[in-house]
Amino acid sequence: MAQSNLAPAQAAHDKLKALGILALNGMFDEMDAVGVLRYAINEVLPGDLAIVSSFGADSAVLLHMVAQVDPSLPVYFLETGKHFPETLAYVETLKKTLGLINVHAIHPNSEDVKRFDPNGDLWESDPDSCCHIRKTEPLEPITEQYGGWVTGRKRYQTAERGVLPHFELTSDDRIKVNPLAHFTDADVIEYRQAHSLPEHPLYAKGFKSIGCAPCTSAVAEGEDPRAGRWRGLNKKECGIHYDFNGAIASPMSAAARHTLWKDGAFIADPFKSWTEGTDPSEARYTHVPLPEFIAHREAYLANPHPLGLLVLPGDRIEDVAEDVSRFASIAVAFPAFSDGRGYSTARLLVERLNYAGEIRAVGDVLQDQIPHMRRCGFNALVVTHAPTREALIDNRLPEMALFYQPVGRTEVPLGTRPFLRRVS
Ligand code: SF4
Repeated sequence: MAQSNLAPAQAAHDKLKALGILALNGMFDEMDAVGVLRYAINEVLPGDLAIVSSFGADSAVLLHMVAQVDPSLPVYFLETGKHFPETLAYVETLKKTLGLINVHAIHPNSEDVKRFDPNGDLWESDPDSCCHIRKTEPLEPITEQYGGWVTGRKRYQTAERGVLPHFELTSDDRIKVNPLAHFTDADVIEYRQAHSLPEHPLYAKGFKSIGCAPCTSAVAEGEDPRAGRWRGLNKKECGIHYDFNGAIASPMSAAARHTLWKDGAFIADPFKSWTEGTDPSEARYTHVPLPEFIAHREAYLANPHPLGLLVLPGDRIEDVAEDVSRFASIAVAFPAFSDGRGYSTARLLVERLNYAGEIRAVGDVLQDQIPHMRRCGFNALVVTHAPTREALIDNRLPEMALFYQPVGRTEVPLGTRPFLRRVS
């Protein structure tokens, strides 16, 4: 197993910091997956990068790219003990076909399994703990040996991944490289066919995203490819792709530089302000004003890049009801503390339009508004007001004992709302 050399790792990391990870993200064409991977392996973290692969339905694509750039790159497979036999056979097929020469299986600690999952049914009663002992815990000592790791995550897979960049800096100062961030399901299939890559044996049976056998089911035609993972449970990730704060790893750890508050932390914002005159087919990572979107709807819908929507007071979100799922993020403006129209927009999005992506409040966001905002469906805030920033960082927000307007979903009991949890 490769051991990282701390000095070069530190040097590489310092170099990356000096370059600026955001600049790094701007260096590559959106579609240049091999270019991102080659640069990460050869320039960013030479000898200090590894990949964790599930050997699932679309793993062959990234592993094929790895084999082109460096077939000796360490590849780790989490052998949870719960895989389909077809997956274990597929590991061997890909190793042989692609010529990968450095593949390792990581097993859970047998004492932990005996103690916490003696009957092998923890996945049913407590899947988070099952993933913890079978994936997160065994992987931790491995990732600690490297300055970074490559993942096969893609933006289209879940709303949470809709803003995934190519390079991320985690809060423990490691680098995650996501060469396939921009790939769609169709891109994966096209790549697999173009390179005659072997298909996972279960793919043709409707298994489009494959993890452990008890937690994976086939998906119907047209269904979200990941809908078969932990079906029926409010669980979308196994935990290993999450940063400490539960968010997708932040591209920069210096919270002080960020204004976007999400999932309990200030994180780097991949979105830029929309610029008048932007070509609708070229726009990416920008919140398109609602009237502009309506005026050029066809072009924006044909645009393959991640986009957001900007809703100003007076704009009617109902006018784009059919298209809200197109946006990875919807920004609702609060130009003044006294203007409450944004609350109604958020509630419409959540309660009537079933929008599941990011709803962010922008503008005059102040401390006292935040509990109302969260309650109405906002899950991200752009905060520039210094005292409000400090209150968020210190986890000091007012709780609200009384609400004047009912909301259309179950209220979380006062004092237990996780976003209001105080440090004891
Ligand atoms: S995916 Fe399911 S079986 Fe596998 S570790 Fe997680 S909960 Fe356990």
